[in-house]
Amino acid sequence: MTFTNPQQEIEQLREEIRGHDRRYYVDAAPTITDQEYDQKLDRLKQLEAEHPGLLTADSPTQRVGGEPLEGFRTVAHARPMLSIDNTYDVENLSKWAQRCYEALDPQLAEIEAELAAIDQREESIKGKRDKASQAIRKQGKEQRKTLEEKKLRLRAAAAETGYAIDGGYLAEPKIDGVAINLRYENGLLVLATTRGDGARGDDVTQNVRTIRSIPLRLAATETLPAPEVLEVRGEIFMPHAEFRRINDAFRDAGEEPFANPRNATAGTLKQLDPTAVAERRLQFLAHGQGEVAGAQFETHTQFLDSLATWGVPASPLAKLCKSIQDVWERIEKFDSQRDQLSYEVDGVVIKLDRYDQREQLGTTSRFPRWCIAYKYPAEQAVTKLLQVDWQVGKTGKLTPRATMEPVFVAGTTVQHATLHNYGEILRKDIRIGDTVIIEKAGEIIPQVVRVDLEKRPANLPPIEPPEKCPDCGGEVESEHDDAGKETARYCMNPECPAQLRERLIHFAARGQMDIDGMGEKIVLQLADAGLLNSFGDIFELHSKRAQLLELDRMGEKKADNLLAGIEAAKTRGLDRVLCGLGIRHIGSTVARILAKHYGSIESLQAATREEIQTFQTDGQESGIGPEIAASIHHFLHSEAGQHVIEELQSANVTLAVSQPTEPNTPQIFAGKTFVVTGKLEKYTRDEIHTLVEQHGGKASSSVSKKTDYLVAGEKAGSKLAKAEQLGVTVLSETAFEELLPTENS
Ligand SMILES: [Zn+2]
Repeated sequence: MTFTNPQQEIEQLREEIRGHDRRYYVDAAPTITDQEYDQKLDRLKQLEAEHPGLLTADSPTQRVGGEPLEGFRTVAHARPMLSIDNTYDVENLSKWAQRCYEALDPQLAEIEAELAAIDQREESIKGKRDKASQAIRKQGKEQRKTLEEKKLRLRAAAAETGYAIDGGYLAEPKIDGVAINLRYENGLLVLATTRGDGARGDDVTQNVRTIRSIPLRLAATETLPAPEVLEVRGEIFMPHAEFRRINDAFRDAGEEPFANPRNATAGTLKQLDPTAVAERRLQFLAHGQGEVAGAQFETHTQFLDSLATWGVPASPLAKLCKSIQDVWERIEKFDSQRDQLSYEVDGVVIKLDRYDQREQLGTTSRFPRWCIAYKYPAEQAVTKLLQVDWQVGKTGKLTPRATMEPVFVAGTTVQHATLHNYGEILRKDIRIGDTVIIEKAGEIIPQVVRVDLEKRPANLPPIEPPEKCPDCGGEVESEHDDAGKETARYCMNPECPAQLRERLIHFAARGQMDIDGMGEKIVLQLADAGLLNSFGDIFELHSKRAQLLELDRMGEKKADNLLAGIEAAKTRGLDRVLCGLGIRHIGSTVARILAKHYGSIESLQAATREEIQTFQTDGQESGIGPEIAASIHHFLHSEAGQHVIEELQSANVTLAVSQPTEPNTPQIFAGKTFVVTGKLEKYTRDEIHTLVEQHGGKASSSVSKKTDYLVAGEKAGSKLAKAEQLGVTVLSETAFEELLPTENS
């Protein structure tokens, strides 16, 4: 097909791509290959780049992710996002159905009303002994008996039918993901929010836009136009294959993998960089509604059918059941099939299909009464414990790791389980040679639930806890709980190489110093080569470039990236350093509180233990207890601790919180929000953000009605278009500069 004008071609391509998205995600019947799809998308991108005026927010090209966010604003839900009551028990499921049935049965309701009327009548003659009153009482007794009998009969009959409710129960797989509310206004996706506390959630729209199974625009038809407001609720999740792909990449980079697909999904949605979200292929399936205006649905089935027309995917496995017996059969059947699904399902959600019935039942403060989730019990398996190894953690803690006879559980063959600590071995009385029951519920590392004592061979000796560090042979100390029971063992050697390796890995990792290019494998490689014997050594690597290049698989580019990553990490700030050092009890929260209060390592060093454990923040206790205070104080005043700090100081690692705004900077931008876009000449984007903030303004990453100024450079694109549309003042770099006070004013 040839096109006379680009607008036609752009529109045609968008239409085609939306159609393919729909065939892929809603109908599960793609008609073109991924490659062909990508070609169409590329062509569209090219056309839009050539004609920026034709770019619209709902174009399929706008999924690939915008600019990084600074954080997530919280938004109030138009309708609360309640949780779902759940049960592991078929009897509870039946009781739930009974409650629904009885609340909806008009005959039972009538009996209840009659009983209440009798009560009321008797109340009015309370204490009266005259003949008429006595007669009323007698009559009431008989009526009550008849009614109670009738009630019993009705209830028995209802149980007999399996509480078959008119309209039925809809049973659908409970996907283990992250709940989301998608808001469409006049067919356009305008907002995506997480559940949060049920009343308010995080605005994750930018990230959600990158998920291909979520339409940016509803496919309205003449018979089914897009409603004014349509809130669709559903689950965002990560398929197994994608979960494995991401975790493999993390492991290769020496980084900590996600524990399960749900964590991976939540972690991905919380990414500040939408491009990173776009790279992880999350999916979505709808299961409910929030606010709706301009459309009416009588049943949930009808709602789901409309969603299908509009191109919003819902579970193809949802099934309408007549009775609770049917529901139970469905649950059992589905249990045997769920292993074959490409994503994690941990139960079945059962809800009434008719909306009028839902309304009649209402909600409690936490759950809707018309809905319940049956959760499958965690999968267990029986195997034999063969061996226990002790691993040294970054704080010296010795963690027992079990090796078992390989066994198949929850979709994978497992051979290892964590036993957490020596206390756990004592508590569960785990011995080598025991038959153990292990459990795996979506997690990577299974747990040992208990020992089958009946199968224990005679004279099986208890597990010997290590008396010396398995790595360095250093002294070991035990820790006890308040009852005097041993909980864990620690290697006490401050120079233990195993501890040091673990600490270096932790120090360099995301959340701490976040050193790009320095994952677990690289740390181990550098430590083995003798290049890393302390934290300070990391910052000496730049003078050892030649030695770096001699390492296996370490080319010039990789080495330079590593060195650049190290340089960039120097300014992470005091809290990240404190957290990174792996001092016992000092995690990221405590580190932030300490850094904020003391401001620099010097004032923290000058503080006494009492001061650290009693200082207040904003008139409240800081939450730093005696144990934490003792630990940080001990570290700062130990020879080893002082040595670490001196090394970091001489390497110019920032050991203070980032500089607060100079108080005499005129706050000319107070109350104003700035967005920066396009290619700038004089400043980097960060520099402008800093200038704005120093002068009391707020820097944001997306243009909205709240934006006051857009600083636009070359090739500004969609943000510029949006700013112009909203009437936001657009500034060139020079114009921005002119707003700033001159140096001497
Ligand atoms: Zn050791």
